[in-house]
Amino acid sequence: MSRASPTGIKVIVIGAGFGGLAAAIECIRQGHEVEIFEQAPEFLPLGDLIVLTPNGTRIVSTWDDVLPKIMHQCLWVDAMEIHRASGELLHKQEWQNSYQGAPFCMGQRSFYQKTLVDFAESLGIKIHLNTRVEEHFETEHKAGIIVDGVRHEADVLIGADGIRSRCRTFVTGQTDDPQGSGYAVFRAWFPLDQVKDPIIDEWKDSGKDEYHLFIGEDLHAFILTCPTLNMAVYAFTHKDTFDAKESYTQIDHVLQASEGWDPRFRAFVKATPEGRLVDWKLLWRDPFRPWVSKGGRVIIAGDAAHPFLPTSGNGAVQAIEDGASIAYVLRRGGRENIPLALRVHEALRYERVTLSQRIGFETRHRFHKTKWEKLAEDPSAVNMPQPAWQYSHDPVQYAAEKLDEAVADVLEGKPLQSTNVAPGHVHKDWTVAELMALGSETID
Ligand SMILES: Cc1cc2nc3c(=O)[nH]c(=O)nc-3n(C[C@H](O)[C@H](O)[C@H](O)COP(=O)(O)OP(=O)(O)OC[C@H]3O[C@@H](n4cnc5c(N)ncnc54)[C@H](O)[C@@H]3O)c2cc1C
Repeated sequence: MSRASPTGIKVIVIGAGFGGLAAAIECIRQGHEVEIFEQAPEFLPLGDLIVLTPNGTRIVSTWDDVLPKIMHQCLWVDAMEIHRASGELLHKQEWQNSYQGAPFCMGQRSFYQKTLVDFAESLGIKIHLNTRVEEHFETEHKAGIIVDGVRHEADVLIGADGIRSRCRTFVTGQTDDPQGSGYAVFRAWFPLDQVKDPIIDEWKDSGKDEYHLFIGEDLHAFILTCPTLNMAVYAFTHKDTFDAKESYTQIDHVLQASEGWDPRFRAFVKATPEGRLVDWKLLWRDPFRPWVSKGGRVIIAGDAAHPFLPTSGNGAVQAIEDGASIAYVLRRGGRENIPLALRVHEALRYERVTLSQRIGFETRHRFHKTKWEKLAEDPSAVNMPQPAWQYSHDPVQYAAEKLDEAVADVLEGKPLQSTNVAPGHVHKDWTVAELMALGSETID
């Protein structure tokens, strides 16, 4: 990976998720010094699917051999088959596996994360594990954290500490918890050969990777299979009504909620090995600003600044874009202009990120409040969006092109015209409550 000349800027990153790792790696590229503090004691090989869309893999492709490693552990589908919950095939969405040469990677989250961790460490980035950060500080010239009474100081502090971010509270002064979205998702990942029911032999023996979406009443699910890597993953998004006190196991919950569904889907559920099924509550925050502290040296990134629903398929990637953008604007601004640089990053990215977040709701809405009459006329109405404006983006190139405009936005209040959003999109603030209140009305 290329490295720019040293800037003398020292950065502390909280969190070694996709956002924190990307920020740290890109800081090295841009000539900054960086270290990461992560609360987890180790990186466990758990978790299921993550999607890295071309706007993310384009950035990753510059990280030496990281992308080829990831691509060896990918599922490659040529179509997503969309079914009614009962199994009837509605439509085949042709799948775009790459965009402008950047691949669309779907693979195991923990493997991807570990690949990034190994690369970060190979660059000399120190990752302090088992270190939960609770105290942050900022002075006129410094920012940092206090851990176990020890003060760690830097020029910039990046809080990439996820949806329950403590750093967000430091930046915004708000102590509110993320809101429940009213939905949760059962998710499981396990070896495909564990599914013994011959009803899915067709998918096992096809020799190709399969992607199936099932749409029910206020429910949706997908299954992905990969015979070559012996992988199966499914996710079932449902109203968050199951109570932990009920006497079902979680597999019973999924079977109960999917009564009458395609027996192929239920075959996967029944085959789920012990301990491999999680019910993940989908949490949310309304879009908010600022992401940058009053003193301008602390910034939140990734889910800490903008959490995503899985149906956006872009949360990790937007976190990666944040990392590349922050590292670049810091270099352009230099050590003397850190607060301005961080505010420029926010101005460049707020509208893009907010629109990407909203796509998660719109897509989920189309799957759950399906307008069947519209679908009969146009089956592509339930396609998973693969937007060119999102996939073609390069946050560093964008920051380079729009830097002067973003500086004028921050310093003179002359609004930046975002061109990293859908063509013709006019930004309007929205809240989760507004979207949820739409009920069965159409969102788009
Ligand atoms: C069910 C589900 C499926 C998803 N699927 C996809 C997908 O397919 N594609 C996609 O792009 N996005 C997906 N997303 C969204 C995506 O996972 C997130 O947007 C992305 O992981 C955000 O990365 P992050 O680094 O900001 O946060 P996280 O991945 O949450 O990482 C935060 C890190 O900070 C650490 N941390 C937290 N607090 C502290 C602290 N106080 N001190 C030290 N460390 C701390 C955590 O341990 C963690 O390692 C999905 C989300 C959900 C809920």
